[in-house]
Amino acid sequence: MKLAEDIYYFKGTRFNSHRGSSSNVYVIGDKQTNIIIDCGLYSYAASLKKKLLKNSISLKNNVVTFTHTHPDHVTGATIFNDKSNKFVCSRLQKDELEKPEEVYLNYIKNIKSGPYSSFAKRKTIRNILKYFFIRLYGEEGTLKIEEIINENTLLKNKLLVLYTPGHTLNSVAFYYEKHKALFCGDTINTLTRGYPTLNCPDSDINKYIYTLENLKTLDVELLCPGHNGIIFGKERIHGELQKNIDKCLELKRTTLNYLGNKDQSLRQLKKKVLSPFPKEFFFTTKTMMMYTILKGLIKDKKVKEIHKKVRTVYRAI
Ligand SMILES: [Zn+2]
Repeated sequence: MKLAEDIYYFKGTRFNSHRGSSSNVYVIGDKQTNIIIDCGLYSYAASLKKKLLKNSISLKNNVVTFTHTHPDHVTGATIFNDKSNKFVCSRLQKDELEKPEEVYLNYIKNIKSGPYSSFAKRKTIRNILKYFFIRLYGEEGTLKIEEIINENTLLKNKLLVLYTPGHTLNSVAFYYEKHKALFCGDTINTLTRGYPTLNCPDSDINKYIYTLENLKTLDVELLCPGHNGIIFGKERIHGELQKNIDKCLELKRTTLNYLGNKDQSLRQLKKKVLSPFPKEFFFTTKTMMMYTILKGLIKDKKVKEIHKKVRTVYRAI
């Protein structure tokens, strides 16, 4: 689908237990030398290639970049496996893109040290992660990054690079002033039904709020997220950003309320704070999100972790 004379939008897919979910892919340019933002999932790479060629978009001489390093945005990059393409990314993304095994090992490490330790021991979880991080990334070799793109610089004289930590620490957004378009990756994801996208081991709720406040100051008419449909119109976009800020503040407030003066475990808090929660979410999502809220409150010095013998509990300060 064409969003403007030089912006193409290829919609990703919803979650599927066999193939995972694939991100949206955006192509900015004149079909011959383009900037590609995100590449979807490896298992959809062949169908993406077909769609690009059908629209006469060349698979050569492109600049390929990513909003963040999650496999559903990155692993489809194998279709740009030609030396004429140039891969660029932010400083914080480089290692994860070039050494995906590190990402996998980091995830496992994070999971083992966090409240996920019990399910990190389960073989199925390890296998799912391995499937995403090694099989998908590693299948056609790893990416070689040619250039680091710095914050507040212009990519190919077109896209303003914005560092937008929150969903992940290495999230980046791109702003195309000519069309007032913002490519925001998973910072906004309408599939999460009003919940902020803070469901990853390196999600940061405080940085996320700061990022959204910054994005609110931009003049945006076209919001192009990492999944699902485009949001049109300044007012709706502003509303979507504000809704996520409000939700974060509400989640923090509710957590503090439930803690009151009684110590509670992550599991207890998760049940109270994040319920009701969309059923179709992956079962680890709730745990990761609750942990992100607690990490934020610990940084605010409003909550502390108490290590009891059997399990960690949280206490309001
Ligand atoms: Zn993501």
